[in-house]
Amino acid sequence: MRIASVVHQESRRIAIHEQSDLWAVAPGPGDLGDYLDTGVPNSAGDDWPRVAAAELTFLAPLPRPRRNVLCLGLNYADHARESQQAKGKELELPEHPVVFTKATHTVIGPYADIPLDPKVTQQLDWEVELGVILRRGGRNIREADALEHVLGYTVVNDLSARDLQFRHKQFFLGKSVDGTCPMGPWITTADAVDDPHALALSCAVNGTVKQQSNTREMVFPIPEVIATLSRIMTLEAGDVLATGTPAGVGFARTPPEFLQHGDTVTCEIEGLGALRNRVVAP
Ligand code: ZN
Repeated sequence: MRIASVVHQESRRIAIHEQSDLWAVAPGPGDLGDYLDTGVPNSAGDDWPRVAAAELTFLAPLPRPRRNVLCLGLNYADHARESQQAKGKELELPEHPVVFTKATHTVIGPYADIPLDPKVTQQLDWEVELGVILRRGGRNIREADALEHVLGYTVVNDLSARDLQFRHKQFFLGKSVDGTCPMGPWITTADAVDDPHALALSCAVNGTVKQQSNTREMVFPIPEVIATLSRIMTLEAGDVLATGTPAGVGFARTPPEFLQHGDTVTCEIEGLGALRNRVVAP
């Protein structure tokens, strides 16, 4: 099942994909974030109006997550290699997951504009990532049980201001510029994804492919990440995990490349859909 947060007739609703371009829109107001405690519906009601996709504005599935997006750094070996090479270091794969967060106000819709203020950053970079959204939290979740906590999967672009990321040492500021986390276009529920570790993912800028890989290349697979995090902190329904990006980011290219006003970034994951965002002046 695909489930989305949308705006329909100026009201936030959830919508469930029916067939071709038809979506069933919940009659009551609220986005997916409003359903985290009561439970996300498994199917559309008969009384839900059927609406063409063109009449809906797709928001991020969780337009304002309850807390920061939990992100994995260096979780693809080829990206770890290019990052360390760009900094003149030897390849060293992390022995334990590298975790940082993005502030909640970074989240924007799957087709929303990305605001780029050159006074804030001159080095805005792309990172396509598999997003994992939890339906149930917990402590000490075992690897064997971890995927039962997953509501579903989505596409995340972990846009990164490299100048801020490297200047301020800690990743947080460089990862938390307003509008730098396009997400969506919807959640594909876990039952509809055969294997989250076998999905092709790619990122293109103005139609030129920059990143192309497969989630099987992750250093730490999703169950290990959930188990590790939940040993340390209580996970909660609605937590969003961004599981790291493969090689091909801008700062590690020769010469380095960064996003400019007018660029369109497309991030796509097999079976999960695509984000398409234009970079604009704020
Ligand atoms: Zn990332």
